[in-house]
Amino acid sequence: MAGEAQVDCVFCKIVAGEIPSTKVRETEHTLAFRDINPQMPTHVLVVPKAHYPNAAALAEADPRLAGAVLAEAGRVAEEEKVVDSGYRLIFNTGAGAGQTVFHAHVHVLGGGNGELHEKLV
Ligand code: AMP
Ligand code: ZN
Repeated sequence: MAGEAQVDCVFCKIVAGEIPSTKVRETEHTLAFRDINPQMPTHVLVVPKAHYPNAAALAEADPRLAGAVLAEAGRVAEEEKVVDSGYRLIFNTGAGAGQTVFHAHVHVLGGGNGELHEKLV
């Protein structure tokens, strides 16, 4: 059923506390944690706790939750002090666009000189 935890999903395991993560923020329905392979000085992922395969599927199934993820991304940017310098929100969708974890997540990227370190995440 839509939104149910998936056994093989790394972000469902992080939400469940089965895999460690560096938590940045948490609400009832969302979790923000640091990317394990940061591409910029600030690189935080914000996920809905419920499993949806990508951002569009999340927004179709639960627009309110999609909005909560975006609002949390903004709060992360504030806490990380990258609002004035600017930051990027990226939702990779599909393997061809570089999506490797098929649990909806937004990358919050900022700090440094604004260049992505290695690739467009
Ligand atoms: P994407 O390529 O958009 O699917 O992004 C997946 C992101 O998840 C990548 O930037 C990975 O570095 C990150 N990632 C994968 N496993 C973990 C983990 N266990 N903890 C934190 N970030 C992770
Ligand atoms: Zn999941």
